Amino acid sequence: MKARKDLGLTFLKMDFGVELLANTPGALIGSPNWDFQRQWGLRDPAKGNARSYSLTQHPFTGLQITDKGLAVLCDHVSQTRDAVGYDIPLAADHFGHFDVTTAIRLGNALEKYQLAWLEDMVPWFYTEKWKQISDGINTPTLTGEDIYLKEEFIKLIDARAVDMIQPDLASSGGLLETKKIGDYAEERGIAMAMHFAGTPISFMANIHCAAATENFVALEHHSFDVPWWEDLVTGIDKPIFKEGFVKVPDTPGLGVTLNEKVVKEHLKKGEMYFAPTTEWDAIDSWDRTWS
Ligand SMILES: [Mg+2]
Repeated sequence: MKARKDLGLTFLKMDFGVELLANTPGALIGSPNWDFQRQWGLRDPAKGNARSYSLTQHPFTGLQITDKGLAVLCDHVSQTRDAVGYDIPLAADHFGHFDVTTAIRLGNALEKYQLAWLEDMVPWFYTEKWKQISDGINTPTLTGEDIYLKEEFIKLIDARAVDMIQPDLASSGGLLETKKIGDYAEERGIAMAMHFAGTPISFMANIHCAAATENFVALEHHSFDVPWWEDLVTGIDKPIFKEGFVKVPDTPGLGVTLNEKVVKEHLKKGEMYFAPTTEWDAIDSWDRTWS
């Protein structure tokens, strides 16, 4: 986080959750289901890099964090705050799968670290559970990266279930739909962060949408460590992203042109340019429809 801040970023987000408690006796009641990630060879609690990425939804895991576990998580956030200070927003995500009561206990324990938001503490479609959490803690709550189209955002906003929303423009229905989502939230006093993990094409669509709304707070960006990421497009001043901000281009369209040469250089091994993506034709591909 400190290194990210030193890059000039003006907003930070970190992941932390029950995986930090995997090797601490007495920190968790019940056992997180590590099997999903283990089966994919991604993470393993024995190696200390586990994540509770279970296919079992939060209310059904029976997992609880003890006072001892909460103390470990608070110490983690406290050390992060010591490193980055309190003059920069710091949001948090990926806590693991546990129910509302544990979410509220965690939210209350973390209150003093003044986090910008707590993300996806339960799946987005549990409107009432979200409202219980939001009413029970004094840190802003946020969800939305898995929601398609504005109608489900409207339910959350009308119920005052979360403090902030976070559509992913590439999967929420595109630029115009996300603008509608943002406007609906703005008229009801709800802030909008934007979830994003993709190419500079999608990034620039997000930039234009963000610039056209008044409740925009922050746009996620996952590619600082990819040296050729900005080379995927041309026709815009580089660096596109500078000290936490992006200059909105006034050239036609998104304001960037796809650099086909660079894209082709970075295709997955054996993959053709603009290969068919039939895996996305089914409702379930490799990912879940909730976080
Ligand atoms: Mg997230």
